[in-house]
Amino acid sequence: MTRSARALLAGCAAALLLSGCSDPSPAPKEEKKAAAPSSAAPAKSPSADPAAYRRWGLDKPLAPPPPPPAHRITEGHRGGVPQIVRRVPVKDKVVFVTFDDGAEKDPKFLEMAKDLKLPFSMFLTDSAARAGRGYGYFDTLRALGNGVHNHTLTHPNLRTLSPEAQKREICGQQETLKKRFGKRPELFRPPYGNYNDATLAAAGSCGIKAVVLWQATMQINDMRYAEAGKLRPGDIVLAHFRGPAELKGTTMTRMVTNMLRSIQRQGYTVARLEDYV
Ligand SMILES: [Zn+2]
Repeated sequence: MTRSARALLAGCAAALLLSGCSDPSPAPKEEKKAAAPSSAAPAKSPSADPAAYRRWGLDKPLAPPPPPPAHRITEGHRGGVPQIVRRVPVKDKVVFVTFDDGAEKDPKFLEMAKDLKLPFSMFLTDSAARAGRGYGYFDTLRALGNGVHNHTLTHPNLRTLSPEAQKREICGQQETLKKRFGKRPELFRPPYGNYNDATLAAAGSCGIKAVVLWQATMQINDMRYAEAGKLRPGDIVLAHFRGPAELKGTTMTRMVTNMLRSIQRQGYTVARLEDYV
């Protein structure tokens, strides 16, 4: 029970002054594709190659993360109400990067992810992810070992919806992602961090084991923090698939460089959320 952060606070992470997510863009038709292999690549660490980091404007590699724990938080989960994870219970100076929604599909970010072997998790909203180049963009990131998780069909404020409507939003995206990637996600993030008991019941009913919130939000140049104005061990960092239109001209890769620089400056490195949760 020690690492089981089962904080069933009915509140919402948005109350932590952290801004949520942008509205998804309208959704053109997504081409049907065969499901990708059912399991992501094995866990891995960020690249240790200084030249790779220099290519993306970083002075030095991220430090190697500590070995992952023997047991993940969700391992004991036997169905029912998912666990709420606001921060991963670790003592090491390690944080977890997450990208939400899926609207921006910058090809340069694919190169960057490949180059740096950056571990991160994706919480995809169907209406945003299928727009433009569609889900195919995320195949590449997934093939690098990065997990795809649920962020609803249309990015509503779930607290305003009936239990049935919440179930459609959450379980509908479970099915979409299972069809597309061959695996039903175990992690869910409610848009804007807003949820209630009905959200947890709905998510639990379609296989979600943990609701993943966050403690830091990446803006354009730096992060905003829920506590103490700085990163803390185990913080989950919320970032978005965003491009110049949302970032005042800054590209996705530049934003990620800014984020990694800040993580390094604070003495942290990045590990893979799925190895812990
Ligand atoms: Zn979002």
